[in-house]
Amino acid sequence: MARIRQLPTSVITKIAAGEVIERPASVVKELLENSLDAGATRLDIDVENGGAELIRVVDNGGGIHADDLALAFSNHATSKLESADDLFAVHTLGFRGEALASIGGVSQVTLQARPADAAVGAEVACHGGVVSPAKVWNGAAGTRIEVRHLFFNTPVRRKFLRTAATEMGHICEVCTRIALARPGLHLTLNHNGKSVYEITAAASLLDRIRLFFGKDVSDKLYPIDATQGPAHLYGFIADPACDRGTPKMQYLFLNGRWIRDRSLGHAVQEAFRGLLMTGRYAVAFLYLDMPADHVDVNVHPTKAEVRFRDSGALFSFFLATIRNRLSAENLTARLRPPSPALGGMPQGVAPQGVAQGAPWLTPRQDQATPSLFGQTGFPTFTKNPLPEPRRVEPQGGAPRGPDTTTPPPVNGHAGSEAASTKPPANAASEAAATFGSNGSKAIQLHNAYLVLETPEGMLVIDQHALHERILFEQFKERFRAGTLEAQRLLIPEPVELTADQAAKTLEQREALAELGLSVDDFGNGTLLVTSYPAILGKTPPGEILKSVVDYLTAQERLPTREHLLNELMSLMACHAAVRSGDPLTPEEIAALSGQRHLAQDAHHCPHGRPTALLFTRHELDRQFRRV
Ligand code: ADP
Ligand code: MG
Repeated sequence: MARIRQLPTSVITKIAAGEVIERPASVVKELLENSLDAGATRLDIDVENGGAELIRVVDNGGGIHADDLALAFSNHATSKLESADDLFAVHTLGFRGEALASIGGVSQVTLQARPADAAVGAEVACHGGVVSPAKVWNGAAGTRIEVRHLFFNTPVRRKFLRTAATEMGHICEVCTRIALARPGLHLTLNHNGKSVYEITAAASLLDRIRLFFGKDVSDKLYPIDATQGPAHLYGFIADPACDRGTPKMQYLFLNGRWIRDRSLGHAVQEAFRGLLMTGRYAVAFLYLDMPADHVDVNVHPTKAEVRFRDSGALFSFFLATIRNRLSAENLTARLRPPSPALGGMPQGVAPQGVAQGAPWLTPRQDQATPSLFGQTGFPTFTKNPLPEPRRVEPQGGAPRGPDTTTPPPVNGHAGSEAASTKPPANAASEAAATFGSNGSKAIQLHNAYLVLETPEGMLVIDQHALHERILFEQFKERFRAGTLEAQRLLIPEPVELTADQAAKTLEQREALAELGLSVDDFGNGTLLVTSYPAILGKTPPGEILKSVVDYLTAQERLPTREHLLNELMSLMACHAAVRSGDPLTPEEIAALSGQRHLAQDAHHCPHGRPTALLFTRHELDRQFRRV
């Protein structure tokens, strides 16, 4: 049996270093934060070989007193805290006094500093935790620190380092966060003697965003600014068209510090719900300022995670602020064909997108590779300059008061009477219909799209996406108003499921019943549907239940009740809506296109696909060389 021993300091330092210093980028982060805490307005960073060879940071901050230089390398040595009370009023980025000790323990550091009021400065070295005596140093006011041969004495860690390019990528991310967190800061970054960034103090936040993420993002931002209690939230959210495949471009800064927060990240996604496809993430640059005593930053050694005093209130604040801002924009996807100069598209020839069919009508596809924009000449989608969609009084085929047991006006695909009056699939031209007060015509193409003239140009509607959105909104509205009606089935419909599916569904029985979908346990994995939401018209109840079951069993952990109800409503709306491929009668076309304005968020279906694309008159004229 091995005996218990006190570990030597050298081992303790290496263990502690592991928490703070994971890779070269962690060194850069700690050094930059120290410079900012020292009031630096200019930071010059030089990196060699992805930081494995050298990381040098030179700042113009307050410097370090010659007598304190050696102390800076001992553990828990800091100038930023005096008492435990200060822990709850942290105004600096650092305060734990462990970064320099950790870095000095696993590399070869030279630290040189001169406070502005000192005639000469001093320097010390720290090699693997061993500090050399101080020497005089004649340098500029501020601090200069060189970190060489990171992990030289922990070979296993050194082996874990990735390629210089990968490590440099992490370092760039650290610099990006600092540069965004502190507009007004002058920052330069060189790698192997070549300039990576030079960001001047004059560069505004928007300039910085453009520099780091390109015009594709910086041109599509909506500013936000709101206050609630002690919290001030400001910054930018990007148009849903800028979406990404990861949440990495949701930047959040708390009192000038970059942080990660799952709950607030959810609030952002929740605010964009319905505007993004599943698996896509919004882009945002959010700044939250609040008094230091409302948040505990001492949760994690790298301080990337914090604890808020009232995180529930912050969640709602974020959600409401971003949602309000988004609803102030009209987000109908607008088609902008490639400019001949960019796209190599011959003048006077049909644009590539039309000839090939697909790219013009699949906006999300090209957004997955935004860097290709402008090179391939694929169209981009931008915010529609049309006035905001209005809620108009229902007319003609609009919902009919409280009689919710009648199917919604556009519900032809499942109804047998409707089916008999449908035009043959190829009679698209006969399916022209008038709608709306301006009498514009809508026609159905390929049994999938409705095309109509609007004052702005030509609108192409995805019939399924729009109908789904309309049903979803009606569903939500009636649910909210308490007028959602259940259609009782005279003969309950049995649905056979696996035992697991049946159990998971029965667990959510109450939530389902709230939406009008009632089920009973018949035993042996069979459930009986006894009623279903009347609003879903003639969709077979068993089918509705099956789609709900698929959803419920796919979830590892079920979302909150509100979230769940929302998901279920969107699911059922999707199921009950007309499909792509369903031929529609002129009346149905008129009703559907006429209801476009009734749907809140009519520009996107609940899954985030656009419901409509606008080809502006101007673009048409331009493409036909009339302007
Ligand atoms: P912390 O930042 O948590 O205080 P560090 O180990 O990072 O701990 O730094 C220790 C101390 O060294 C700091 O409290 C600060 O007084 C001093 N220091 C480090 N870097 C700088 C710098 N660039 N300019 C001025 N002082 C610095
Ligand atoms: Mg520090």
